Amino acid sequence: MRTERAFVRGKGSRTFRCRVCCRNTRITSQIDVNPDTCGECSNLAGQQNAVWDGCYDFTTDTPYRDKLLAKIVKLGGDGDKVKAYFADLFSDA
Ligand SMILES: [Zn+2]
Repeated sequence: MRTERAFVRGKGSRTFRCRVCCRNTRITSQIDVNPDTCGECSNLAGQQNAVWDGCYDFTTDTPYRDKLLAKIVKLGGDGDKVKAYFADLFSDA
């Protein structure tokens, strides 16, 4: 019986520059949705969509938003650029 590998060898070491926070990041499965955006910025993009759709709750969803931003900054991303890019999402900040 042949065993299938769950991943392609070498794929995990590929990096690219996120167009939102400008940090170098590794390619993850989320990149399929946003080809040039890191995982955290992809999540923030989803949150901003929720703002536009009127289903974002600044009271309950903001801690997660801030957690993502803190992670981006910690990993070397530009927090100001992220806030500017997602201006509607950070309209209360
Ligand atoms: Zn990013």
